[in-house]
Amino acid sequence: MTTETQDRETTDGFHLVIDALKLNDIDTIFALPGIPITDFLRMAQAEGIKVFSFRHEQHAGNAAAAAGFITGKPGICFTVSAPGFLNGLTALANATTNCFPMILISGSSEREVVDLQQGDYEEMDQLAIAKPLCKAAFRVLHAEDIGVGIARAIRAAVSGRPGGVYLDLPAKLFAQHIDKEVAQRSLIKVVDPAPKQIPAADAVKRAVDLLKGAKKPLVILGKGAAYAQADAEIKTFIERTGIPYLPMSMAKGLLPDNHAQSASAARSYVLAEADVVMLVGARLNWLLSHGKGKTWGAASSKGWGQQQFIQVDISPTEADSNVAIAAPVIGDIGSCISALNQAIGSGLAKPPADWLGAIAERKDKNLTKMAETLAKNPPVMNFHSALNVVRNTIKAHPKAYLVNEGANALDFTRSIVDMYEPRRRLDVGTWGIMGIGMGFAVAAAAVTGEQVLAVEGDSAFGFSGMEVETICRYNLPVCIVVMNNNGIYKGTDVNPRGDAMAPTQFVKNARYDLMMEAFGGVGVTAKNPEELQKAIDAAFASRKPTLINALIDESAGTESGRITSLNPAAKKK
Ligand code: ADP
Repeated sequence: MTTETQDRETTDGFHLVIDALKLNDIDTIFALPGIPITDFLRMAQAEGIKVFSFRHEQHAGNAAAAAGFITGKPGICFTVSAPGFLNGLTALANATTNCFPMILISGSSEREVVDLQQGDYEEMDQLAIAKPLCKAAFRVLHAEDIGVGIARAIRAAVSGRPGGVYLDLPAKLFAQHIDKEVAQRSLIKVVDPAPKQIPAADAVKRAVDLLKGAKKPLVILGKGAAYAQADAEIKTFIERTGIPYLPMSMAKGLLPDNHAQSASAARSYVLAEADVVMLVGARLNWLLSHGKGKTWGAASSKGWGQQQFIQVDISPTEADSNVAIAAPVIGDIGSCISALNQAIGSGLAKPPADWLGAIAERKDKNLTKMAETLAKNPPVMNFHSALNVVRNTIKAHPKAYLVNEGANALDFTRSIVDMYEPRRRLDVGTWGIMGIGMGFAVAAAAVTGEQVLAVEGDSAFGFSGMEVETICRYNLPVCIVVMNNNGIYKGTDVNPRGDAMAPTQFVKNARYDLMMEAFGGVGVTAKNPEELQKAIDAAFASRKPTLINALIDESAGTESGRITSLNPAAKKK
């Protein structure tokens, strides 16, 4: 056979993977090239797939995870074997923890050599390592199984509770040739990858009955509710019932934060006082104090455990994971809320006026206090005066994506910056980790084309800072604000021995803006809110990659931000 005839009649593993992805409407890949993925990425690009190539696999993985959250389609990340795979694995585990659909596809060494531990280049039993850290893991050994492998990975990532999936593709697979017709027949277009899950009628009734008897009802919207893209149903439910609601961090904007029923500004009060709490795509994990302790019990002399919970979730095993759930409603959020809306009709009385009045009173007081703090313009910029600028910017550009990580930079931004549109806030999520910043920013810009504003603590930025080159290379509309207070938490720590910097200190007055300039982007230093506003406005108008080095009072901030309770050393201070 001549090469020409061979090309006509056969295809190879490389092209089959590309065909399988394209058949399933996957149009974007986040990756880091290396053998044999380099050739794969070249071919994928030549076949019309958008390829975003990163400087470190963790950020490519984080980008895939964020793309999954924003679009509801699995985000795809490609890495090389062993170290590349391990670097991507952090993102895969984080995606799984956060219930974001993502598929990590890594090249790997040949099974025969790995299993006999014969010392291959980058030898590692990647499938075994990935398994406990993700929702599902598969390996494909034969080209004719590529279609099945991709289909299984897609289904596992997006059906039920979404999560991370690992797909192991040994290097030899890519070069395997098979008959073109057989290959075409082996591909699978996944039909209905995330099937609706309709809740049982008696579960819906149980929940409605509980709401009917509530004197102080509360709804908590989590990022599962944002992910579900059931925005209209959720809005109808909230407004029809009149129940006050609290958005978890990444559910901010599902309803605008200035909505009359938002109880964010009275958070501690409503958590302590509510008698029936309905969780919608939110887990009772550490972010909600596990539904226990003084956060929940302050209203009752008997302590926590007086509230009754309704939990709307796709995962049947989530209920009772921390406290008793009186009314689990299991199904996809769209179907569940729609069933609840139908069951309620107009037959649910609005919550008692004294409950709504008490919340409104606290809200007014706290919002007035916040407005006073934000109106101050201290001589040295602090988190509040800087974030007032960010707050105004998002108000003026509600469709922009806000990426946010850090300790104080995270906590202050979350409470100060209102969101107005669903799924626009991307942050450190369930683990509260650092390092998601630039990966999430690239993903948001890449899959939506919208302007991105990344508010980064100077420490948090360091985890993914090199990706500013990626942002410049693809000329993405990303504006990064580094809240520079010269260190982790703050820059004032002192080493009592005086022979080196303290562990939490960074180089003083670092020029993060020059990092962006190094790659052709715009770098600006902002010493006050006026300079910060001007630089953000210019970035939004030009859509040029921009990094603003925002100089913050180095004594601003508390150790561990708002999770001081988890840090025994900081608690003593
Ligand atoms: P948050 O951190 O905002 O409180 P979590 O990540 O703890 O949110 O909770 C998200 C929850 O949403 C998970 O329990 C997950 O099973 C659930 N979930 C995700 N997608 C859906 C969906 N489409 N329908 C129903 N529940 C969902």
